[in-house]
Amino acid sequence: MSSRSEALRQEILSARCVLCVQPHYDDNDIAAGGSFARMADAGAAVHYLTVTDNLAGVLDAELSDAEAIARTRAEQEAAGREIGVHSQLRLDLPDAGEWSEVELRTRVIEEIRRLRPDYVFTCDPWLPHEAHRDHLRTGIAVAEAVMFHGMPRFRTRPEVDATYADGGDHEIRGLVLYFTREPNLAIDIGATRERKHRAIDAYRAQLQGENLAGIHAGIAAMERLWGEPDGVEHAEAFKLLRPGQLHVGLAPERRPGA
Ligand SMILES: [Zn+2]
Repeated sequence: MSSRSEALRQEILSARCVLCVQPHYDDNDIAAGGSFARMADAGAAVHYLTVTDNLAGVLDAELSDAEAIARTRAEQEAAGREIGVHSQLRLDLPDAGEWSEVELRTRVIEEIRRLRPDYVFTCDPWLPHEAHRDHLRTGIAVAEAVMFHGMPRFRTRPEVDATYADGGDHEIRGLVLYFTREPNLAIDIGATRERKHRAIDAYRAQLQGENLAGIHAGIAAMERLWGEPDGVEHAEAFKLLRPGQLHVGLAPERRPGA
């Protein structure tokens, strides 16, 4: 990729704190586990926020809901240890069920105010043909949270809001989208790729047998594709948007034709 994307890559890899919001417990690692492991290795606090209770994808129909949730929590902790995740927070909204973007947006604003991340990661809600509404709603809710988190009339918990208002400067430098078809940066994951794939192996409640093998193969194909422009074997790709780019296009990434 270009020198511009090199600058973006260096910027991301020097993050001190990132909030990574995923619809389901395995999305962050499937999309970006190698990059999050690199950031954690470089000293960033990598925080995962999982939106749903993950019940829809659990394969064992004999488990009670409570048992299934406990199992996915344990798997997520094990995967997080591979990656070096600093904290795991789950909202347990109903997987593939009824919940509102506004409700999620408020929870994400609360976590932004509490954690003060440099960058917020999530899935690209503008991925062509994305049919899973958990992904669409999560992407939009997080984008709006990045846009609105500094505005005092967006209220969360009073103690969080008061501390944030009194707490000096905080700026989100970018919304970073994964599962995107319009990347503007790629991160070489040669050094962390094995940990990423081991992390994905932890998600056995939902991924087994041929399905799991197919996931690994599909991820590997994308990793090679994204590595090609930079001449590396395996990479992960992202779309970094500045907060000012998230509404009505008055802060374009670059001039048309430039
Ligand atoms: Zn998902």
